[in-house]
Amino acid sequence: MQLPADYHMHTPLCRHARGEPTEYARHAVRLGLDEIGFSDHSPMRQDDFDNWRMRFDQLDAYVAGVHQARADHPGLNIRLALEVDYLPGHEAWIRELAARHPWDYFIGSVHYVSESWDIDNPAKLSEWRHRDAFEVWAAYFERLGQAAASGLFEIIGHCDLPKKFGHRPSRDCTPLYEKFLQIARQHNCAIELNTAGLRKECQEIYPSRELLQIAFQLGVPITFGADAHAPEEVGMNFAEAIQLARAAGYRETCRFANRQRRLVGI
Ligand code: ZN
Ligand code: FE
Ligand code: FE
Ligand code: ZN
Repeated sequence: MQLPADYHMHTPLCRHARGEPTEYARHAVRLGLDEIGFSDHSPMRQDDFDNWRMRFDQLDAYVAGVHQARADHPGLNIRLALEVDYLPGHEAWIRELAARHPWDYFIGSVHYVSESWDIDNPAKLSEWRHRDAFEVWAAYFERLGQAAASGLFEIIGHCDLPKKFGHRPSRDCTPLYEKFLQIARQHNCAIELNTAGLRKECQEIYPSRELLQIAFQLGVPITFGADAHAPEEVGMNFAEAIQLARAAGYRETCRFANRQRRLVGI
Protein backbone atom coordinates (compact mmCIF):
# COMPACT_ATOMS: atom_id res chain seq x y z
CA MET A 1 0.00 0.00 0.00
CA GLN A 2 1.24 3.48 -0.90
CA LEU A 3 2.27 5.61 2.09
CA PRO A 4 0.01 8.59 2.79
CA ALA A 5 1.11 11.96 1.44
CA ASP A 6 3.02 14.16 3.88
CA TYR A 7 1.05 17.39 3.66
CA HIS A 8 2.72 19.47 6.35
CA MET A 9 6.26 20.80 5.97
CA HIS A 10 8.03 24.12 6.26
CA THR A 11 10.90 26.04 4.63
CA PRO A 12 13.59 28.40 5.99
CA LEU A 13 11.46 31.41 5.03
CA CYS A 14 9.58 30.99 8.32
CA ARG A 15 12.85 31.66 10.19
CA HIS A 16 12.73 28.53 12.36
CA ALA A 17 13.23 25.75 9.79
CA ARG A 18 16.29 24.65 7.81
CA GLY A 19 16.89 23.03 4.42
CA GLU A 20 15.70 24.05 0.99
CA PRO A 21 12.40 22.65 -0.37
CA THR A 22 14.29 20.45 -2.82
CA GLU A 23 16.04 18.74 0.12
CA TYR A 24 12.68 17.97 1.75
CA ALA A 25 11.55 16.49 -1.56
CA ARG A 26 14.73 14.42 -1.84
CA HIS A 27 14.11 12.93 1.59
CA ALA A 28 10.51 12.11 0.62
CA VAL A 29 11.72 10.25 -2.48
CA ARG A 30 14.23 8.35 -0.35
CA LEU A 31 11.38 7.22 1.94
CA GLY A 32 9.25 6.09 -0.98
CA LEU A 33 6.55 8.76 -0.63
CA ASP A 34 4.77 9.55 -3.89
CA GLU A 35 3.25 12.86 -2.79
CA ILE A 36 4.10 15.72 -0.43
CA GLY A 37 2.82 19.24 0.12
CA PHE A 38 4.64 22.34 1.34
CA SER A 39 2.67 24.26 3.95
CA ASP A 40 4.91 26.95 5.35
CA HIS A 41 3.61 29.52 7.84
CA SER A 42 1.61 32.10 5.88
CA PRO A 43 2.41 35.81 5.94
CA MET A 44 0.21 38.12 7.99
CA ARG A 45 -1.06 41.45 6.71
CA GLN A 46 1.41 43.04 9.16
CA ASP A 47 4.90 41.58 8.68
CA ASP A 48 5.81 42.43 12.28
CA PHE A 49 2.85 40.48 13.72
CA ASP A 50 5.38 37.94 15.05
CA ASN A 51 8.79 36.51 14.14
CA TRP A 52 8.04 32.98 13.00
CA ARG A 53 6.66 33.31 9.44
CA MET A 54 7.63 34.54 5.99
CA ARG A 55 7.15 38.19 5.07
CA PHE A 56 4.50 38.96 2.50
CA ASP A 57 7.15 40.03 -0.03
CA GLN A 58 8.66 36.49 0.25
CA LEU A 59 5.53 34.70 -0.92
CA ASP A 60 6.67 34.55 -4.56
CA ALA A 61 10.08 33.22 -3.46
CA TYR A 62 8.27 30.52 -1.47
CA VAL A 63 6.31 29.44 -4.55
CA ALA A 64 9.51 29.52 -6.62
CA GLY A 65 11.20 27.21 -4.10
CA VAL A 66 8.36 24.71 -4.40
CA HIS A 67 8.58 24.92 -8.22
CA GLN A 68 12.32 24.21 -8.00
CA ALA A 69 11.64 21.12 -5.87
CA ARG A 70 9.13 19.95 -8.52
CA ALA A 71 11.65 20.49 -11.33
CA ASP A 72 14.31 18.53 -9.42
CA HIS A 73 11.96 15.61 -8.54
CA PRO A 74 9.67 14.91 -11.50
CA GLY A 75 8.56 11.54 -10.08
CA LEU A 76 7.17 13.07 -6.88
CA ASN A 77 3.83 14.91 -6.72
CA ILE A 78 4.49 18.17 -4.89
CA ARG A 79 1.52 20.19 -3.74
CA LEU A 80 1.58 23.91 -3.08
CA ALA A 81 -0.05 24.96 0.16
CA LEU A 82 0.19 27.16 3.24
CA GLU A 83 -0.31 26.64 6.94
CA VAL A 84 -2.51 29.65 7.59
CA ASP A 85 -3.05 31.07 11.07
CA TYR A 86 -6.72 31.47 11.79
CA LEU A 87 -7.61 34.49 13.92
CA PRO A 88 -11.11 35.98 13.91
CA GLY A 89 -11.09 39.07 11.71
CA HIS A 90 -8.33 37.80 9.41
CA GLU A 91 -10.74 36.21 6.90
CA ALA A 92 -10.39 38.93 4.22
CA TRP A 93 -6.59 38.66 4.37
CA ILE A 94 -6.75 34.88 4.02
CA ARG A 95 -8.97 35.30 0.93
CA GLU A 96 -6.41 37.70 -0.53
CA LEU A 97 -3.67 35.11 0.00
CA ALA A 98 -5.86 32.43 -1.56
CA ALA A 99 -6.24 34.50 -4.74
CA ARG A 100 -2.51 35.02 -5.26
CA HIS A 101 -1.32 31.54 -6.31
CA PRO A 102 -2.83 28.25 -7.52
CA TRP A 103 -2.82 26.59 -4.09
CA ASP A 104 -3.71 22.92 -3.72
CA TYR A 105 -4.94 23.27 -0.14
CA PHE A 106 -4.78 25.48 2.94
CA ILE A 107 -4.17 24.06 6.41
CA GLY A 108 -6.00 26.24 8.92
CA SER A 109 -4.14 26.26 12.23
CA VAL A 110 -4.93 27.95 15.49
CA HIS A 111 -1.78 28.96 17.35
CA TYR A 112 -3.20 32.20 18.80
CA VAL A 113 -5.98 32.07 21.39
CA SER A 114 -5.83 35.90 21.58
CA GLU A 115 -4.19 38.58 19.43
CA SER A 116 -0.99 38.25 21.46
CA TRP A 117 -0.67 34.71 22.82
CA ASP A 118 0.54 31.91 20.57
CA ILE A 119 0.15 29.01 22.97
CA ASP A 120 2.81 26.77 21.36
CA ASN A 121 5.53 29.44 21.48
CA PRO A 122 8.28 28.31 23.89
CA ALA A 123 9.15 31.98 24.52
CA LYS A 124 5.67 32.45 26.03
CA LEU A 125 5.59 29.27 28.07
CA SER A 126 5.29 31.23 31.34
CA GLU A 127 1.90 32.58 30.21
CA TRP A 128 0.45 29.14 30.94
CA ARG A 129 1.13 29.71 34.64
CA HIS A 130 -1.40 32.56 34.72
CA ARG A 131 -4.10 30.54 32.97
CA ASP A 132 -6.52 27.79 33.78
CA ALA A 133 -5.76 24.90 31.41
CA PHE A 134 -9.41 24.12 30.68
CA GLU A 135 -10.12 27.75 29.79
CA VAL A 136 -7.23 27.76 27.32
CA TRP A 137 -8.41 24.48 25.76
CA ALA A 138 -11.97 25.81 25.53
CA ALA A 139 -10.83 29.06 23.88
CA TYR A 140 -8.65 27.07 21.50
CA PHE A 141 -11.43 24.67 20.42
CA GLU A 142 -13.84 27.59 20.04
CA ARG A 143 -11.44 29.16 17.53
CA LEU A 144 -10.87 25.83 15.84
CA GLY A 145 -14.62 25.61 15.23
CA GLN A 146 -14.63 29.13 13.81
CA ALA A 147 -11.72 28.17 11.54
CA ALA A 148 -13.59 25.12 10.24
CA ALA A 149 -16.80 27.14 9.74
CA SER A 150 -14.96 29.87 7.81
CA GLY A 151 -14.79 27.69 4.69
CA LEU A 152 -11.24 28.94 4.10
CA PHE A 153 -9.44 25.66 4.82
CA GLU A 154 -9.38 22.11 3.50
CA ILE A 155 -7.53 20.79 6.55
CA ILE A 156 -7.45 21.81 10.21
CA GLY A 157 -3.93 21.49 11.62
CA HIS A 158 -2.71 19.76 14.81
CA CYS A 159 -6.14 19.98 16.41
CA ASP A 160 -5.15 19.46 20.03
CA LEU A 161 -2.08 21.69 20.03
CA PRO A 162 -2.62 22.97 23.62
CA LYS A 163 -1.23 19.65 24.89
CA LYS A 164 2.19 20.46 23.38
CA PHE A 165 3.97 21.27 26.65
CA GLY A 166 1.84 18.86 28.68
CA HIS A 167 -0.82 21.30 29.94
CA ARG A 168 -3.91 19.12 30.23
CA PRO A 169 -7.17 20.11 31.90
CA SER A 170 -8.54 17.86 34.61
CA ARG A 171 -12.04 18.42 33.23
CA ASP A 172 -13.38 16.22 30.41
CA CYS A 173 -12.74 17.83 27.01
CA THR A 174 -15.01 15.48 25.04
CA PRO A 175 -17.76 18.11 24.56
CA LEU A 176 -15.17 20.53 23.11
CA TYR A 177 -13.99 17.87 20.65
CA GLU A 178 -17.53 16.94 19.63
CA LYS A 179 -18.61 20.50 18.97
CA PHE A 180 -15.53 21.25 16.86
CA LEU A 181 -15.71 17.99 14.92
CA GLN A 182 -19.40 18.44 14.10
CA ILE A 183 -18.54 21.81 12.58
CA ALA A 184 -15.62 20.28 10.67
CA ARG A 185 -17.95 17.60 9.29
CA GLN A 186 -20.59 20.16 8.24
CA HIS A 187 -18.02 22.28 6.43
CA ASN A 188 -16.12 19.42 4.78
CA CYS A 189 -12.88 20.01 6.66
CA ALA A 190 -10.39 17.23 7.12
CA ILE A 191 -8.16 17.04 10.20
CA GLU A 192 -4.52 16.03 10.14
CA LEU A 193 -2.58 13.41 12.03
CA ASN A 194 0.50 15.47 12.86
CA THR A 195 3.45 13.46 14.14
CA ALA A 196 5.35 16.50 15.46
CA GLY A 197 3.66 15.97 18.82
CA LEU A 198 5.86 12.89 19.27
CA ARG A 199 8.88 15.22 19.20
CA LYS A 200 7.43 17.57 21.84
CA GLU A 201 6.93 17.31 25.62
CA CYS A 202 3.48 15.74 25.16
CA GLN A 203 5.13 12.84 23.22
CA GLU A 204 1.88 12.08 21.43
CA ILE A 205 0.59 12.54 17.90
CA TYR A 206 -1.85 15.43 17.39
CA PRO A 207 -4.71 14.65 17.87
CA SER A 208 -5.21 12.12 20.67
CA ARG A 209 -6.78 8.73 20.01
CA GLU A 210 -9.87 9.90 21.90
CA LEU A 211 -10.40 12.89 19.62
CA LEU A 212 -9.61 10.83 16.52
CA GLN A 213 -12.18 8.18 17.41
CA ILE A 214 -14.89 10.83 17.64
CA ALA A 215 -13.71 12.25 14.29
CA PHE A 216 -14.07 8.83 12.69
CA GLN A 217 -17.53 8.28 14.16
CA LEU A 218 -18.65 11.65 12.81
CA GLY A 219 -17.14 11.02 9.35
CA VAL A 220 -14.39 13.64 9.42
CA PRO A 221 -11.62 12.62 6.95
CA ILE A 222 -7.90 12.76 7.69
CA THR A 223 -4.55 13.72 6.23
CA PHE A 224 -1.03 13.02 7.49
CA GLY A 225 1.82 15.41 8.20
CA ALA A 226 5.15 15.31 10.01
CA ASP A 227 5.28 19.13 10.31
CA ALA A 228 8.92 18.90 9.19
CA HIS A 229 11.10 21.90 9.97
CA ALA A 230 14.15 20.04 8.58
CA PRO A 231 14.47 17.71 5.56
CA GLU A 232 15.08 14.55 7.60
CA GLU A 233 11.78 15.07 9.47
CA VAL A 234 9.68 14.47 6.34
CA GLY A 235 7.52 11.38 6.79
CA MET A 236 8.76 10.93 10.35
CA ASN A 237 6.77 8.45 12.50
CA PHE A 238 4.26 7.76 9.72
CA ALA A 239 4.10 4.07 10.74
CA GLU A 240 2.76 5.11 14.17
CA ALA A 241 0.33 7.59 12.59
CA ILE A 242 -1.04 4.96 10.19
CA GLN A 243 -1.44 2.55 13.09
CA LEU A 244 -3.34 5.19 15.08
CA ALA A 245 -5.60 6.03 12.12
CA ARG A 246 -6.41 2.38 11.52
CA ALA A 247 -7.06 1.76 15.22
CA ALA A 248 -9.61 4.59 15.14
CA GLY A 249 -11.30 2.89 12.17
CA TYR A 250 -9.92 4.86 9.22
CA ARG A 251 -9.21 3.05 5.94
CA GLU A 252 -8.93 6.16 3.76
CA THR A 253 -7.00 9.42 3.68
CA CYS A 254 -7.42 12.57 1.58
CA ARG A 255 -5.40 13.95 -1.27
CA PHE A 256 -5.83 17.46 -2.60
CA ALA A 257 -5.19 19.17 -5.93
CA ASN A 258 -6.56 22.59 -6.84
CA ARG A 259 -8.42 22.64 -3.54
CA GLN A 260 -10.38 19.55 -4.56
CA ARG A 261 -10.42 16.47 -2.34
CA ARG A 262 -10.30 12.80 -3.24
CA LEU A 263 -10.00 9.79 -0.98
CA VAL A 264 -7.37 7.05 -1.27
CA GLY A 265 -6.80 3.89 0.78
CA ILE A 266 -4.40 3.62 3.68
ZN1 ZN B 1 6.75 26.17 12.47
FE1 FE C 1 1.32 24.88 13.39
FE1 FE D 1 3.58 23.54 10.69
ZN1 ZN E 1 2.78 23.41 12.67
